[in-house]
Amino acid sequence: MGLESNIKLVFADMEGTLFYPVVKMTHGIAPSSWTLMAQDLGEDALTMEENMKKRWKEGGFKNAKGEQSYLEFMRESVQMHQMLGLKKEVFEKAINVPYHPGVKETYEFFKGAGIKTALISGGFKAQADRAQQDLKIDYALAGCQYFWKEDGTVDHFNLNDSDYLGKVKYVRGIMKEEGVDPNQCVFIGDGPNDAMIGKEVGISISFNGCKPLEEACNYNIRQKEGKENFIEVLKVFGGDVYRDTMKTYKSRLE
Ligand SMILES: [Mg+2]
Repeated sequence: MGLESNIKLVFADMEGTLFYPVVKMTHGIAPSSWTLMAQDLGEDALTMEENMKKRWKEGGFKNAKGEQSYLEFMRESVQMHQMLGLKKEVFEKAINVPYHPGVKETYEFFKGAGIKTALISGGFKAQADRAQQDLKIDYALAGCQYFWKEDGTVDHFNLNDSDYLGKVKYVRGIMKEEGVDPNQCVFIGDGPNDAMIGKEVGISISFNGCKPLEEACNYNIRQKEGKENFIEVLKVFGGDVYRDTMKTYKSRLE
């Protein structure tokens, strides 16, 4: 890495990229807060969730046109949450996972350098809201939003098209809105469903990502478990940017 660049816009995945992946990948599907919630809801929920992931891999969720649909996958997940009586406090615990070290300092650099940022996730809007506020992210797309009853159970929900093509459409829309071309854009992700977005931009970075994503990206960052630091993505902005931001990060540890 270390290329001089004219980067104007940075897209990033949320879970496992900005946030630490607290659960492991199963059935080739990226770990997420959906799984964390299932863990909290008990054995039955976990079994149902695992079965749904298997069904997803087999193409078992179809929309009205008979195409594989992430919206349908989310819709059934929401129904499962409603059936099992998911409570707001369990939900909030699941989305309140830690950031990767260095995320805060990296986004401070983006803001200071006038680089726009966008977050793209098939996860929950409440978690994206948290990241957007903490990191002052300009744009965000998230898959699912819950509306709560007074007793803390799910009242209603909203779903956004946020898998593969939905994410790609969103990325193209923001690039158009910002008047930038793909070579002025970076994408950072970790999951298999990030590979398509990686191909939309000039600089794609797999951040401790899975094999299929590594194969689709220009840059692969691999760090030891427990030694992850997000600041390494700044190496594409030049060695001095990386070193300065690392210095800020380390000075805050003291
Ligand atoms: Mg991810």
